[in-house]
Amino acid sequence: MKELHEKIVQDGKVLSEEVLKVDSFLNHQIDPPLMQAIGKEFAERFKEDGVTKVLTIESSGIAPSMMCGLLLEVPVIFARKRKSLTMSDHLYTAGVYSFTKKETNDISVSKDFLKKGDKVLLIDDFLANGQAVLGLLDIIEQAEAELVGVGIVIEKGFQPGGDLIRDKGIRVESLAIIESLQNGKVVLTENRDE
Ligand code: 5GP
Repeated sequence: MKELHEKIVQDGKVLSEEVLKVDSFLNHQIDPPLMQAIGKEFAERFKEDGVTKVLTIESSGIAPSMMCGLLLEVPVIFARKRKSLTMSDHLYTAGVYSFTKKETNDISVSKDFLKKGDKVLLIDDFLANGQAVLGLLDIIEQAEAELVGVGIVIEKGFQPGGDLIRDKGIRVESLAIIESLQNGKVVLTENRDE
């Protein structure tokens, strides 16, 4: 996706050989027109799949998911990283190992919003080691809902998550795939997604 590729190259900051900082348009400050274009692209790719819910994880997955849900005309659910005081035991819960924080945390979704028969599109900002996606998959299984596919804004192709998820026979659509972050430079895989 051209606009996203350009934004990553222009504004992405390589923090190390493994971590890209994109807090000027996705992870802290949010670029609405870019989110709209991202949501449109996901909606276009999954429009024939009968999606009934978009599921993501707070907080950075919410903006692109919201734009996609708007166009597909379906609700957007975000898994919470902390149990809210108003949330009871009426929850699906899964453990997720965080690549950035190096710790395992529970994520949860209320049983009110994800049901048997739902056709779920998973969306997340980054795909690195695949742990966030695996946690969300666990929740979809607990709900006996059906996974339609996974939409990722930025996949780090040199980390194992993409293969891990695709090897399960799951459709993964990544709008930008990073080949390497070596020598402080972002190298994107061209044309795989265009
Ligand atoms: P995974 O579970 O696939 O290892 O990592 C996915 C989650 O970790 C994403 O939701 C994102 O929050 C975070 N993450 C992984 N790699 C990066 C990165 O290079 N940059 C940023 N900003 N977040 C990342």
